[in-house]
Amino acid sequence: MATTRARSHAPWSASKISTALRCSRLFHYRYVEKLPEPEVMPEARIGKAVHAALEGALGGAALPAAIEQGRKLLTDPLEQARFDHLSRGIPPFLDRIEAFRRRRRVARELVEFSLAVREDFSTTQFYAGDAFYRGIFDSAFLYDEGTLAVIDHKTGYRSPNLSITDQLEGYAVLAAAGFRSVRRVWLGIHWVADAEVDWVRPIPTQEIQQDLVPRVLANIEAAALAISDGPRSNPGVWCERCNYRTVCPTGIEFRFEPVDPDEPGIE
Ligand code: SF4
Repeated sequence: MATTRARSHAPWSASKISTALRCSRLFHYRYVEKLPEPEVMPEARIGKAVHAALEGALGGAALPAAIEQGRKLLTDPLEQARFDHLSRGIPPFLDRIEAFRRRRRVARELVEFSLAVREDFSTTQFYAGDAFYRGIFDSAFLYDEGTLAVIDHKTGYRSPNLSITDQLEGYAVLAAAGFRSVRRVWLGIHWVADAEVDWVRPIPTQEIQQDLVPRVLANIEAAALAISDGPRSNPGVWCERCNYRTVCPTGIEFRFEPVDPDEPGIE
């Protein structure tokens, strides 16, 4: 059973957990005060545009139309140029998906599919009051009687060590709860810029129930504990990409710290 502390901040998601563990001030701005973001980082806008293009193409739209639809979300020429560069990774990915469809018996394809579970990890509606943990699959394929492949698109630089494991484990937990007929889950990260997909080994649903569900619950409890004593800044390199850096006292200090001319390396 979850603690009252964890329950009071539900529904949780992988990104909500990681925000709480990274910086409780950011968590409070975003999830407690629900403060509108004073700025949005270009990477986030570009990522959203690429996701929209992929969503359209995987949903059956013609590729040029899907890419154009994503591009329309951007107005800055530099961001459009970055989008153009990234979107070159979309056709090779679609080719791989097409080859996969030919090799496998795909029973169902899901795009931007939302799932939510209650505290006892039974499924509920995404926006239901009893939703405790939830997430959205970028794309997923149910195939070969009992296998589910969940793919998450990433537009940032490729991480060599799959440090987003917590997010993937959350998807596995949601997949096992949402698809009772599934016997194993493949989790993949699609690095759009590299046109590559990194796969985590397939996880049997029994292992998800035994190991991952308790781990996700433990992460939620750790996140709830981390934010329990109010907003505290945790400055780091991530502040440079924080959408609240212009209102956060630490972010302002971090960015406008006066330069000491006597500091080694400063001329
Ligand atoms: S600027 Fe840094 S310290 Fe401030 S809220 Fe953002 S991440 Fe936290």
